[in-house]
Amino acid sequence: MSTVLLVEDNALIERLVLRRLCRAGHTVNVARDGLAGVTMARESNPDIVLMDLGLPVIDGLEATRRLKADAATRHIPIIALTAHAMTAHRDEALLAGCDGYQSKPIDFTALREQMDRLLATNQNREITCAS
Ligand code: MN
Repeated sequence: MSTVLLVEDNALIERLVLRRLCRAGHTVNVARDGLAGVTMARESNPDIVLMDLGLPVIDGLEATRRLKADAATRHIPIIALTAHAMTAHRDEALLAGCDGYQSKPIDFTALREQMDRLLATNQNREITCAS
């Protein structure tokens, strides 16, 4: 299972995502603003980041740019989460360096598939133990 950093300022969405990810066996850390998200990603080196785009202090696009500009964090896959299912936001997110995109309300099946795909390609983070 993986360590997920959720950067989300909406308490309701936070609770919803937390419940789903914890049930799936992931460890989840939460940051409530973009700058805290950048700091926590540097400190905790999560396997993947779920990044809300509308965030206080610095927004999710700027937080993503900072993480992707830093050699210590640029390998961490980032999935953008946004309320606006608009092509412009999707393009903006990918341009900022996000590796994936999910619109709210979150389709957890789609999110999980995208997370699995990104976690599988991030092979220096995923260690499978033979049983
Ligand atoms: Mn938000």
